[in-house]
Amino acid sequence: MNKHNAEIVISAASSKQYPETDMPEIALAGRSNVGKSSFINTLLNRKNLARTSGKPGKTQLLNFYNIDDTIHFVDVPGYGYAKVSKSERAKWGKMIEEYLTTRSNLRAVVSLVDMRHEPSVDDVQMYEFLKYYGIPVILVATKADKIPRGKWNKHESMIKKALQFDSTDDFIIFSSVDKTGYDQAWKAIENHIN
Ligand code: GDP
Repeated sequence: MNKHNAEIVISAASSKQYPETDMPEIALAGRSNVGKSSFINTLLNRKNLARTSGKPGKTQLLNFYNIDDTIHFVDVPGYGYAKVSKSERAKWGKMIEEYLTTRSNLRAVVSLVDMRHEPSVDDVQMYEFLKYYGIPVILVATKADKIPRGKWNKHESMIKKALQFDSTDDFIIFSSVDKTGYDQAWKAIENHIN
């Protein structure tokens, strides 16, 4: 697979707009600002393919990226914006629930959390939701470069405990600054699509 060969296919609001294909899909979810766009751009060796999650009020859509006709990455709009209205939040919830619970192409969800902090209530809810539906998770702890290596274990334990982490899921320590976890992330994704 040529990981540089990536392009956006469609921004979808509902299932009618999902691409009609058998290609396996990996969805990516996380709080706004967690580093999701940076993660996607790092994996695809691109600067600006995935753009930072929409500001409040902006249309929230599922962005499908075709990676060399082999996988779709499905970028889920970031959650946890304090300023988003109740109705926007409900719309987001419906859209993501429809995708995660009905899409047969879906193989796993990359769930991103900020490695520096306790997972938020939203982070925990997202993980519980995925586990409830039996969806495999690749947990990515972002911004590892901001934590001294000697403290990585402590932070990993803190996150796993808060999420009641399922040991069959992958846990990847990641940095888009120094590319820590790049190979591991790709390995985990490829395990789920083969
Ligand atoms: P998104 O909203 O989840 O798509 O987050 P972005 O990828 O736009 O990143 C949000 C902010 O965190 C930006 O200022 C990034 O430069 C920064 N950031 C993202 N990933 C990393 C990382 O691995 N290390 C550091 N130090 N900063 C990061």
